[in-house]
Amino acid sequence: MINNKITQESLIKEFYINNPNRDIPHKEIVDWVVEEWKKRTGEVFRDSDRAIRKLSQNGFLIKISKGVYKYDPTLQSQRLLEDFTSNQKKFILERDGYKCVICGRGRENGIELHIDHIKPKEFGGQATVENGQTLCAQHNFQKKTLKQTETGKKMFIRLYELAKIEGNQELIKFCTDILETFEMHNINGHIEWRK
Ligand SMILES: [Zn+2]
Repeated sequence: MINNKITQESLIKEFYINNPNRDIPHKEIVDWVVEEWKKRTGEVFRDSDRAIRKLSQNGFLIKISKGVYKYDPTLQSQRLLEDFTSNQKKFILERDGYKCVICGRGRENGIELHIDHIKPKEFGGQATVENGQTLCAQHNFQKKTLKQTETGKKMFIRLYELAKIEGNQELIKFCTDILETFEMHNINGHIEWRK
């Protein structure tokens, strides 16, 4: 079966994938996609500049100079498993309005913001702007803790025991709440917490 589904983005990608490791001036790619899009869909390809710029922001293309981009397959497969570039971070922060997507706190609250991989890198999550989200330091930490729930539970048990030694009631209460939540959801029941 032939998949005829074509998008403007997939057409641009097709061109670069067929022309790897070459500095390609804007005009060459634009002329090709406009003609090819017309041929395949009968429609006019509008705003091809924007579509190309988006691929550069996504890290699919390397910007060589103004209007000149390059596709490097080796770099691409490596880079996707790495961190967000500063351009991508800026794009994600602007898109999310410089606010944590969970609690809505942001710069005006004096909150430290992080760019998080929605699908984690160790599960093949890539450094694309679609896979990035703005989180405050607290929610970024919580997400990591939930992802590594065993480490999280052990950590709170240690913290709880430390709080008991110190007689720090506020910290005991905090740890108790969290550890009871683990129990309520039956998460990591094999790690024993003695109240
Ligand atoms: Zn938050």
